[in-house]
Amino acid sequence: MHFETRAIHAGYDPFDHFGAVNPPVFLSSTFAQSGPGKHQGYEYARSGNPTRKALEQVLANIEDGEYACAFSSGLGATDSIIKLLSAGDHCVVADDVYGGTFRIFDKTFSRFGIEFTWVDTTDPANVAAALKDNTKMLFLETPSNPLLKISDIAALTKLARDKGITSVVDNTFASPYLQRPLELGADIVMHSCTKYLGGHSDVVMGAAVTRDQKLHEGISFNQNASGAVPGGLDCYLVHRGIKTLGVRMEKACDNAEQIVSFLLEHKRVTKVFYPALDAHPNHDVAAKQMKRFGAMISFEIDGSVADGEKVVSDRRVWTLGESLGGVESLLEHPASMTHASIPKELRAKAGLNDGLIRLSVGIEDPRDLIEDLRNGLESY
Ligand SMILES: *Cc1c(COP(=O)(O)O)cnc(C)c1O
Repeated sequence: MHFETRAIHAGYDPFDHFGAVNPPVFLSSTFAQSGPGKHQGYEYARSGNPTRKALEQVLANIEDGEYACAFSSGLGATDSIIKLLSAGDHCVVADDVYGGTFRIFDKTFSRFGIEFTWVDTTDPANVAAALKDNTKMLFLETPSNPLLKISDIAALTKLARDKGITSVVDNTFASPYLQRPLELGADIVMHSCTKYLGGHSDVVMGAAVTRDQKLHEGISFNQNASGAVPGGLDCYLVHRGIKTLGVRMEKACDNAEQIVSFLLEHKRVTKVFYPALDAHPNHDVAAKQMKRFGAMISFEIDGSVADGEKVVSDRRVWTLGESLGGVESLLEHPASMTHASIPKELRAKAGLNDGLIRLSVGIEDPRDLIEDLRNGLESY
């Protein structure tokens, strides 16, 4: 069956539950046993809950995986994945991964003897050069945040596989509707379901999906042992969000394309970062591995930090906020928000200009989004 059919029907059979077309929300923390050790597959809800099981099955299905674990946040998933490693192991990581991923690797796991090397993964040669005898994991994120850099999943995961290194792709920005890393050779794909999978900015959740039984056993052990599990109601909400992922992504991509055209024409916009553009340095790789180019856009204005703040402030349709992937369009100004803690020189080195603005395009009418953006751009 095709993606959108599976997103709606996989993982749940109504006739297991009185014909209810939606999975019931189980709120039990414990499950009665008919005798010591005699239960119907569930004992205690950290280890498993039927609502979570239904979600995990659809997650595995839409990523073309075999097994999935749901977590209480994307970082909960990352935490359980990185704990597949042990002290003395080395992990090569994309140098522009999500800030929270950087923090947990650099501030937490490096204290436990796991070694990290940060490289620009847009060039596979950088990854090849960073591999060492003790390299056990390659951790990628593509498209990346906020400059939408693209890394070649097939080339990089092949490099890892040839050396017996486990490859992980954070697929949050693309969603499985646009990109399926396991098909491209990755061993594990992770998500912040908080973003496109949930899709309505009403739940924080994460997921890890794989085809490899051994890797799944390790992640599932960590899920239960560390305990970053989502509750039943949150699982229901993400499961419901997944059913409309296809239509939401199509509409958001349509809107994004119109907004990119508008930005390219506007005299105050000096640069637009969007993988569909021929001028994007990794456009060909994006075209090869993504179904469409997504709904995240960044652009630069010819202005100061204060000008950037003006553009994003007092918008009527765009919400000023730091997340992404919801039905509502969000915008943010990295220099004064998500990346404000990075000193100006380091920001500049990373290519984060003072006038950089990041958009998460939602599914409103594009005419309203464009008019509101134009008002912002003409406010300074
Ligand atoms: C938000 C995000 C995360 C972290 O997920 P949480 O659900 O906030 O813990 C990881 N990776 C990417 C790309 C994200 O956008």
